[in-house]
Amino acid sequence: MKVVLAYVPPMSAKVVIALNKTGREFERVNVSKSDEHYWRLFDKLWKAGEDFVNIEQDIVVSPTILDELENCPAEWCSVAYPYLNGQYPGLGCVRFRAALLQRRPNAVIEAGEWSNAAHKPKHWCAVDHSLTLALNRAGETKHVHYEGVTHLGDHWPTHGCVPRPA
Ligand SMILES: [Zn+2]
Ligand SMILES: [Zn+2]
Repeated sequence: MKVVLAYVPPMSAKVVIALNKTGREFERVNVSKSDEHYWRLFDKLWKAGEDFVNIEQDIVVSPTILDELENCPAEWCSVAYPYLNGQYPGLGCVRFRAALLQRRPNAVIEAGEWSNAAHKPKHWCAVDHSLTLALNRAGETKHVHYEGVTHLGDHWPTHGCVPRPA
């Protein structure tokens, strides 16, 4: 199971320390080069066709949550964290299995076609919303895990579209 930490500098030490405590290797991917680079990361991971976990840069994982995700038989698992008035399970800590990637090979491409007044196609801020929509439309549902991560909050750069689509 590949583990990716998607970040925009500066990297949070808390996030890295927490990931190190899982005992797993993880790859740091800087997605700051353009508004499309977060989408491009998913495009690349999707095409690679292997089980992967994506962690966003403001998510602090528990030492065991990655084991929990690896052991869960569901194909699309997201760990919820408190957000606004509820619990939000998005791409902040998500695991996709190869079987789902292969069954829905066009999901990320389709997500990249979504846009609205505040977000051009492939915009980083819309990846979560648009990929969820594309997969839900295809009949896929996410399995939600609780209490495995905390959200540091204000680390993603904002671009004035508040609130983030959820
Ligand atoms: Zn699960
Ligand atoms: Zn936005």
